[in-house]
Amino acid sequence: SVTTNESKVDVLIVGAGPAGLMLATQLSKLKIDTRIVDKMAHPVLRGHADGLQCRTGEVFEALNVHREFDAETHECAEVIIWDPDQNGGIHETSRVVDTVPGMSRVRHVNLGQDRVEAIFIDAMKKANNLEVERLTSPTSFTVDETALDDNDAFPITVTLKKLPPPAEWANGDVKSGMYRSNLFTDESQTASNAVEADHSGEETVHCKYLVGCDGARSWVRKNLGLELKGDSANVYWGAFDAVVDSDLPTTRMKNVIHSKDAGTVLMVPREDGMVRVYTQMGELKPGERVDRAAVTIEKLMEKTQQVLKPYRIDFPYIDWYTCYEIGQRVCDTFSQYKDHILIAGDACHTHSPKAGQGMNVSMMDTFNLGWKLASVLRGQAKRDILHTYQLERQKTAHQLIEFDRKFSALFTGKAKTAERAGVSPEEMRKAWDDSIRFTSGTGVVYEPNMIVGKANPWLAKNITVGSHFENHQVVGAFNAHALQLQGRLLADGRWRIVIFPGDIRNKDNFAALKALGDALGSKSGPAPKYTPKGEDLDSVIQTLTVFATPHREVQYAAPTLPSILQPTKKPHGIKDFDCFMCDEPSYHSGEGKAYAGYGIDPAVGCVVVVRPDQHVSGVFAMDEAKEISDFFDSFMIAPSPKS
Ligand code: FAD
Repeated sequence: SVTTNESKVDVLIVGAGPAGLMLATQLSKLKIDTRIVDKMAHPVLRGHADGLQCRTGEVFEALNVHREFDAETHECAEVIIWDPDQNGGIHETSRVVDTVPGMSRVRHVNLGQDRVEAIFIDAMKKANNLEVERLTSPTSFTVDETALDDNDAFPITVTLKKLPPPAEWANGDVKSGMYRSNLFTDESQTASNAVEADHSGEETVHCKYLVGCDGARSWVRKNLGLELKGDSANVYWGAFDAVVDSDLPTTRMKNVIHSKDAGTVLMVPREDGMVRVYTQMGELKPGERVDRAAVTIEKLMEKTQQVLKPYRIDFPYIDWYTCYEIGQRVCDTFSQYKDHILIAGDACHTHSPKAGQGMNVSMMDTFNLGWKLASVLRGQAKRDILHTYQLERQKTAHQLIEFDRKFSALFTGKAKTAERAGVSPEEMRKAWDDSIRFTSGTGVVYEPNMIVGKANPWLAKNITVGSHFENHQVVGAFNAHALQLQGRLLADGRWRIVIFPGDIRNKDNFAALKALGDALGSKSGPAPKYTPKGEDLDSVIQTLTVFATPHREVQYAAPTLPSILQPTKKPHGIKDFDCFMCDEPSYHSGEGKAYAGYGIDPAVGCVVVVRPDQHVSGVFAMDEAKEISDFFDSFMIAPSPKS
């Protein structure tokens, strides 16, 4: 029985930074019972992370929050690399494109973490009236280990504490600059540290899953007895956002400036005409903490001016500045208690800001986790799929740490000059070239596990199982609109079976599609088997078909195709016509050449199974309907006849 100070919730998220807000937004869109708490009185107001990578943009589109982002972001097209010249100054040594053309249809852009957080906060409120409970922090938790296998149980009990508003508010002593918000004097002034013996304002929350998205000094991680492991040699960085006045001709590009002796500066143009400047300020011995108060904005500006010499740079307006420590560290495990307590984002990995990964990788952690939690909580999938979160994201974190270690060494190493060995312009340029796919987020590939299965590379030469499903433009069969195929794969919790039957004017291709459709639509086919009674047949697994046949022909052939492939009638009688698409030139937007792009032979065709997070689970032959069903049978749960 639950008393007044007790409550129940399916998912309790601790921490409303990018990782926590991505999870909360996804779960609220999937209508999962969720709460999200944060010890801070308000979200980030300025600064912090600012790069949004290509894959992040694709995910925002899948979550349908991209319009707000598109309107505000700043795109950076080129990276200029500067090195020391003969006269003790600097000169441009090379230029590389920031987003390699064709890598993604979404480009790398910059937008402050404050805006990213604000847009999520808005989206989750709209989706399910979910709001961040601020000035709230956990003080303890217990686990009922006998209930971990019971899907109906709430095995985690968390005590939440309401915190007093920060003292600065009362004093009117509002600081600007250094810290997480402009209102707190110290990032580590956590209310949970300040929780005394006073038990007023406490609440006991029983939850099924507890997710720690509470940053690099994660309370959840520490209370699980876990720690971040890795380099003890930390460095500390200064970062600031400013309007610049300079005779450097490339301030609206990304600049990597390697001086002879003054160090390295990274400058990234961003929204509202501002520039983000990063500069490494020093190294720390093991156990040493940086004296943040000693790292003033004057020192950051001076360092930047020294690196840029002989160019002049002044900063007429400073919007935000910070100093923060970083080590390349990762946690041994991302989940405990049979995946009932999980950690994500900076709570399980930290690295330098140079490749603009912090916010992106953290959000991608919880994008990976959200749909899995929803599938388990809805009773659609076995609990075992939750373990793939740790398998998939821990490997990605290790890759990131490894990459960051190499990249940082180049970045902070002294520039090569006539008198000394060091990092040459060629090495720097190669590092940027090599890193671009990985840092864009599109290079992440999950290894085989229970939901990353069959690879038949000869059927789709350019589709990598475990990787995200790349985009090619197609044409809607019923409306002749140019459509982005990846854009059809919304992050709405549904799986997709994407069929490439080739040209159905060829009777063998038509027969193969019909046989496949009949099998997928039969009682033992995945969609009929796993869709709860009374719901649309595409509500759990949606079938999409991409023909190598002109749309006019598809329109006439459509009624002769099995009903599982047909446009599904939605509530109010509206049909989802875009489930039939054609690989052909569009009237106004060119040609996507999807079959060629995916490396699929139109004479043979194939079937691609795509997860709700757009990662490819498997590529199957047109006559492998049984294998497709077996794949879903390995982790899905059929609804009970009553539901
Ligand atoms: P965070 O963004 O750290 O979010 C964690 C959240 O958990 C916070 O809202 C925090 O208040 C909350 N929380 C923590 N403990 C508790 C608790 N006990 N109870 C309740 N809530 C709790 N990256 C860059 O790329 N460039 C930068 O210039 C840059 N500057 C930074 C400056 C600072 C001061 C900090 C702290 C980070 C900076 N980063 C920067 C890193 C970047 O912000 C993170 O990589 C990214 O935000 C990670 O997202 P996250 O959600 O995992 O963690």
